[in-house]
Amino acid sequence: MPEAPHVVVVGGGISGLTAALRLDALGAAVTVVEAADTPGGKMQASPVAGVPVDSGAESVLARRPEALGLISELGLEERVVHPGPGSASVYSRGRIRSLPQGQLMGVPGDLAALARSGVLSPAGTLRAALDLVWPRTPVRGDLPVASYIGIRMGRQVVERLVEPLLGGVYAGRADLLSLDATLPQIAPMARRDRSLMRAVRASLEKGTPAKGKGPVFASLRGGIASLPLALAERLGGRVRTGTRVLSLERRPQGWRVRTDGGPLEADAVLLACPAPEAARLLSEHVPEAARELGGIEYASMALVTFALPASAFPEPPSGTGFLVPAGEGLTVKAATFSSNKWPWLGEELARTAPGQDLVLLRCSIGRHGESGVLERSDEDLAAVALADLATVTGLSGSPVETRVTRWTDGLPQYAVGHTGRVERVRTALTRHPGLGVCGAAYGGVGIPACIADAGREAERLADALRTDIHPGRGDGADGHDQQGVNP
Ligand SMILES: Cc1cc2nc3c(=O)[nH]c(=O)nc-3n(C[C@H](O)[C@H](O)[C@H](O)COP(=O)(O)OP(=O)(O)OC[C@H]3O[C@@H](n4cnc5c(N)ncnc54)[C@H](O)[C@@H]3O)c2cc1C
Repeated sequence: MPEAPHVVVVGGGISGLTAALRLDALGAAVTVVEAADTPGGKMQASPVAGVPVDSGAESVLARRPEALGLISELGLEERVVHPGPGSASVYSRGRIRSLPQGQLMGVPGDLAALARSGVLSPAGTLRAALDLVWPRTPVRGDLPVASYIGIRMGRQVVERLVEPLLGGVYAGRADLLSLDATLPQIAPMARRDRSLMRAVRASLEKGTPAKGKGPVFASLRGGIASLPLALAERLGGRVRTGTRVLSLERRPQGWRVRTDGGPLEADAVLLACPAPEAARLLSEHVPEAARELGGIEYASMALVTFALPASAFPEPPSGTGFLVPAGEGLTVKAATFSSNKWPWLGEELARTAPGQDLVLLRCSIGRHGESGVLERSDEDLAAVALADLATVTGLSGSPVETRVTRWTDGLPQYAVGHTGRVERVRTALTRHPGLGVCGAAYGGVGIPACIADAGREAERLADALRTDIHPGRGDGADGHDQQGVNP
């Protein structure tokens, strides 16, 4: 019986773990090498007031099939939870206001609803209305989000709606982010339609089959961080945590992967780590891909999570939280009322801290290019976040517990031309059939997009292993015992 080819996956975040599961199913022997002591990458949780609260990603888009599909595959469906009632708001012009109805990633499709929301000044609303009468804006190549939407609808739509919503995903700036890569629903409208507002409205009225019904977001009781943990458990001894990949060495047959826990021999290597690390590992072997990867910038941010007595608020916080545009004079860029958004958290708090009537809030701080604020100590960040919460909600009183989590270089920035850059990286790698890349730096930072990218890249590598590298070696149809062939 032929021996299964061995693939080393560098990085045990959701992308690396998913790719390993798929490669295993396709007949490869896999080893996931993860530098941190726990798998999960940006998906981590730790207790606050005795309850496990996500300290990185907190939810998945339920309108895409990949994350919920993986959750079912791992037998976790019974733990799926959805946000409680209420919607997100924006802190604009000195107070919290509901996001206008009929918007798509902040781009308004309904002028009357935009005016009613009060998010923009009357002048800003009139400026947005000009989109309805102005001639078409010719759009050829990719361009910054702020350029196109700014021309059509004015700066206020960009600054008070689109940038805060994009900020929740990229912690990025609308004047740098790519329209094609970050607003793929809007980009075709920019090329096809005269009025953006009408195009958004038509698209929302029509809906799409993928959009479907039901809640937009989902998470897991115990935190969405339980998803990579369940994946790692499924993969068992094939995941090596606390081990960093130091370099790759090309061998006559495959690769030697040097780690701080000793070398591993591999037929193929899949880099599921952030782009700067992939660039470093590829620099000697595929310099053209490394150069492109080295050009992807990352934003840093911090999350401050508080457990507070509900009595600290003049009235209980309602809704799921609020976004803060850059020009509003606050340091936090968003706050999530976590125990409102995820009712299971409230239930757990009532169980672990009975009679204390606690609420959980999570504030995010830091935008791309704004690193100064993150140089402050944890205590300062917590104090600033508390002061901002006091400004917005009237909160007075002290938290019973505070957790500060830093995500240095945590979010890749999809700058103008990102899609072309990713194509060039992947084209360069096709000339090296035993190498692949996947993860948040490529086809979307959201968890479902990472799962999809990992699946595609696992299939591409498995095909290459069958046809280009070791034709005739294991195709998995024989149910090969993967554990037995691990190095
Ligand atoms: C604060 C925050 C909140 C977010 N919220 C959401 C959300 O609510 N919903 C959503 O869909 N997305 C969210 N995201 C985005 C999403 O979580 C990430 O894009 C996704 O988890 C990235 O997964 P990944 O496996 O591609 O990369 P990562 O999670 O970055 O994993 C890469 C792994 O590679 C390891 N590694 C790096 N170098 C080496 C090496 N040399 N050797 C071995 N291992 C190495 C790292 O330790 C890391 O564990 C959020 C991101 C952040 C930072």
